[in-house]
Amino acid sequence: MQPVHPPLGEVYDLAVIGGGINGVGIAADAAGRGLRVLLCEQDDLAAHTSSASSKLIHGGLRYLEHYQFRLVREALGEREVLLGKAPHLVRPLRFILPHRAHLRPAWLIRAGLFLYDHLGPRQHLAASRYLRLAADSPLQADIRQAFEYADCWVDDARLVVANAQAARERGAHVHCRTRCIGARRSKGLWHLQLERRDGSRLSLRARALVNAAGPWAAQLLQLFKQPDGRALRLVQGSHIVLPRLYPGEHAYILQNEDGRIVFVLPFQEHFSLVGTTDREYQGDPAQVRISDVEIDYLLAVLNRHFRQPVSRAQIVHSFSGVRPLYDDHSASPSAVSRDYTLALAGNPGEAPLLSVFGGKLTTYRRLAEAALQLLAPSLPQMGPAWTANAALPGGEQWPGHATLVEQLRRRFVWLPASLAQRWTDSYGVRVWRLLQGIHDSQALGRHFGAGLYQREVDYLCDEEWAQQAEDILWRRSKLGLLLSASEQAALRDYLAQRQASRTRLSTVLD
Ligand SMILES: Cc1cc2nc3c(=O)[nH]c(=O)nc-3n(C[C@H](O)[C@H](O)[C@H](O)COP(=O)(O)OP(=O)(O)OC[C@H]3O[C@@H](n4cnc5c(N)ncnc54)[C@H](O)[C@@H]3O)c2cc1C
Repeated sequence: MQPVHPPLGEVYDLAVIGGGINGVGIAADAAGRGLRVLLCEQDDLAAHTSSASSKLIHGGLRYLEHYQFRLVREALGEREVLLGKAPHLVRPLRFILPHRAHLRPAWLIRAGLFLYDHLGPRQHLAASRYLRLAADSPLQADIRQAFEYADCWVDDARLVVANAQAARERGAHVHCRTRCIGARRSKGLWHLQLERRDGSRLSLRARALVNAAGPWAAQLLQLFKQPDGRALRLVQGSHIVLPRLYPGEHAYILQNEDGRIVFVLPFQEHFSLVGTTDREYQGDPAQVRISDVEIDYLLAVLNRHFRQPVSRAQIVHSFSGVRPLYDDHSASPSAVSRDYTLALAGNPGEAPLLSVFGGKLTTYRRLAEAALQLLAPSLPQMGPAWTANAALPGGEQWPGHATLVEQLRRRFVWLPASLAQRWTDSYGVRVWRLLQGIHDSQALGRHFGAGLYQREVDYLCDEEWAQQAEDILWRRSKLGLLLSASEQAALRDYLAQRQASRTRLSTVLD
């Protein structure tokens, strides 16, 4: 077995299992505090729950009904923090909440929105207000009253990649497609075994271990022969993507008769994203798929609200994820708390194991701070918290979206406006790095379709751990919605050839 060597000494301070938002958030925070960090992810970064979310950075209006004031306050505050840290990936979004008297009464909604406006800090986001809907509203004619409030939208998978980059830039080793297959304590350290996709194995030692395996967190504890301690409740949530249902950049939050809510969000310029569902899940988290019942549920909610009927035939894409929630024994899956629980295991003198249960994209940074605070007694050399005001890669010295697009188009006059816009949204100021050494459109290389050029593909492989077509089409971008099957096949071939030539080169160099 080939040992992995940490950069400065013989032992990592912290090994993190899981490259979802919580794993990369903890790895970035720890690396920035001067710890020697390794992160392993069995698939791609954000391959599972962290790319299957509703993509909201939100306080969670609905959680007020469940008296989750701590979570809502923390999450409301994080909206402002994340807007500052990653302004290219996080942006304000206006929500319209149609009011139908037989559902929640108006006074209850007003009271909830008042709390939402005042429970946490709010500098950039507008306060809520009452609305009378215009006659040309896309909603059904009987829906004339509504409320409006603000939250934020985020590119979930890119937020994960940005945190992994932040971790790497502070010295962390990030290994994708590398599964942790075993870990045991010995002489005050964790001894880990990792396995790569090609079957090769690595071993390493670490002073502390973080289990951020999301829906696999409980399985990992069993594998390590650790007491399960806290039970995990897996709750499936699914979304459908439809051609854009209405003009405008606002979202709708629709109340359903069962007390649940469904979001309708503007998505990738031409589409609407509709979700989510909440159902118990017992299967393999890697195999989760939307069911017919969920599709019918989402379509029924849409058709109860929108004038223009929507049918199954219009669905262009769907995705499902599994929420790895801490089981608080709530009766229904939608009532289970979305707050996080951190479980620290290890007797005095033993290497600690910290497991993450639950959480939201929105609160990942606070979760990471709380995790490191718990680990601090075992890693006393760690520095203080630092992430609140530090920009994520791409968000440094942010000039503003419009200014950055304008600067790009002035410097690269041949660059189509749509591409400048998409790259600005995706890469922020790192777009200058993407375009380094490029002087004309020819130098962008082969065009795979929908504005995806070889240059961007190579950048994603070299800088952002992309290896397979899905990593690019559905996580680093959402261009899978636009590329035809043959264009996607051409991308697959290109990546296979690229990989083969790299393997040949490394064999020659060996
Ligand atoms: C439908 C839905 C909608 C949501 N909407 C929102 C929202 O709008 N806003 C919000 O804030 N939150 C939302 N969430 C919650 C949020 O997405 C999750 O809390 C978050 O993504 C969980 O991240 P994670 O890192 O814990 O898990 P994951 O993203 O699942 O990451 C865990 C990783 O661990 C890896 N792993 C597992 N075992 C091993 C191993 N042995 N070795 C190496 N790697 C391993 C997995 O491959 C996986 O990538 C939503 C969740 C769902 C399901």
